[in-house]
Amino acid sequence: MTKNKLVRLISLSAIGSLFALSVSADNLMQSIEDDYSNRLGDIFADFHANPELSTGEFRTAKILASLLRESGFEVTEGVGGTGIVALMENGPGPLVMMRADMDGLPLEEKSGLPYASKVTQLDPVTGKVFPVMHACGHDVHITSLVGTAKQMAERRDSWSGRLMLIGQPAEERVLGAKIMMQDNLWKRFGKPDYALAFHVAAGLPAGNINVQEGAPMAGADTVDIIVHGIGAHGASPHAGKDPVLLGSQIVVGLQALVARELPPREAGVVTVGAFHSGTKHNIISDRAELQLTVRNTNLKTRDKLLSGIERIATNMGRVAGLPEDKLPEVIVLDESTPPTINNDPLVRRLKAVWQNAMGEDRVTGYSSQGMGAEDFPFFTTEPAIPSVYFSVGGTHISDIEAAADGTGPAVHSHHSPLFKIEPQPSVTTGIQATVLALMDLMPVN
Ligand SMILES: [Zn+2]
Ligand SMILES: [Zn+2]
Repeated sequence: MTKNKLVRLISLSAIGSLFALSVSADNLMQSIEDDYSNRLGDIFADFHANPELSTGEFRTAKILASLLRESGFEVTEGVGGTGIVALMENGPGPLVMMRADMDGLPLEEKSGLPYASKVTQLDPVTGKVFPVMHACGHDVHITSLVGTAKQMAERRDSWSGRLMLIGQPAEERVLGAKIMMQDNLWKRFGKPDYALAFHVAAGLPAGNINVQEGAPMAGADTVDIIVHGIGAHGASPHAGKDPVLLGSQIVVGLQALVARELPPREAGVVTVGAFHSGTKHNIISDRAELQLTVRNTNLKTRDKLLSGIERIATNMGRVAGLPEDKLPEVIVLDESTPPTINNDPLVRRLKAVWQNAMGEDRVTGYSSQGMGAEDFPFFTTEPAIPSVYFSVGGTHISDIEAAADGTGPAVHSHHSPLFKIEPQPSVTTGIQATVLALMDLMPVN
């Protein structure tokens, strides 16, 4: 879509919302569907065709900011890089935050969609040019945020409080939430009483949402272990301390953490993804480097795994007879993110609201199977804010079933160049669930 067409759409939508204000206050889903046909379908296709890399979401943020302003929000741009904060003050009541992440991924799109991305971008982080694709569905999140803003603005009589909508950069680098917080987010705009976010899920039927108690997304830590050896001739191992052997013993030792130290029903992962050492067959190196990803679903497990890694690595150094100042070093890098932990009473409350309004069969409560991570908890962990992170279905049920019984093509996963979701039911269900939750959290007293 050209910029002019988008500007025209934005002005048309402003007229549309005045009209809608006078005629419709209650038929939420019809109003969302109308907004999708009039505006959101084109906005989604435009976002999808013009994805941007983490921290480089300049165009996306500008368009999102202008669309939120059109709905009457007071928008601040440039919060933590390209982040935006949109506020609507609407009487006494709680401050509630809804977050949508904005970034795409460095991938060449092969979905075959008519609005597939063909763009490339200079990556602000690496300085290299990459093809870019919305291969995680963040275009659904931002389009839904636009629709949510309009519905909430049109229903100001039905809620009371302060609504904060956040367009977040760089989720894919688990960086954006952190840099927005470092930009004094709560000091500048107020600390929310509740926080919400959702992710579209290719594996969940379109039209459905899923919300679970506990941790829908894992916490992740990125850990380096530097093993200092003592170099020697490969034929004289007694003259050195071999970091390849010591590193291997550390890798094996680490396996006991999940297998023997975590309670069996407690989820955890310790993966050594890289092990580098040495230059030549007959040289005992003086250094080995291990690169780990460590996953948890609560902070107790996180402490247990990280302190266990430290304990095993340093003591293996002692076992090898290394001096105290040469023991292996364990470095937790700042690419880490805490687990996304839902507030259980709030989950139960919103689940009841959703089931009541959307129908019980559309609202499920499956637990996550994987240990994928997310940076939303940087908003909600310190200080703690009661929050709910949920999933919105992104694939027609018939396609999911056909893929499952082998009669249809596979449902491609997030971060695949073939990834595609059904935009209409994803966006409209995302808006419906968000608006229902916001209305419940900000009642008129
Ligand atoms: Zn992703
Ligand atoms: Zn994502």
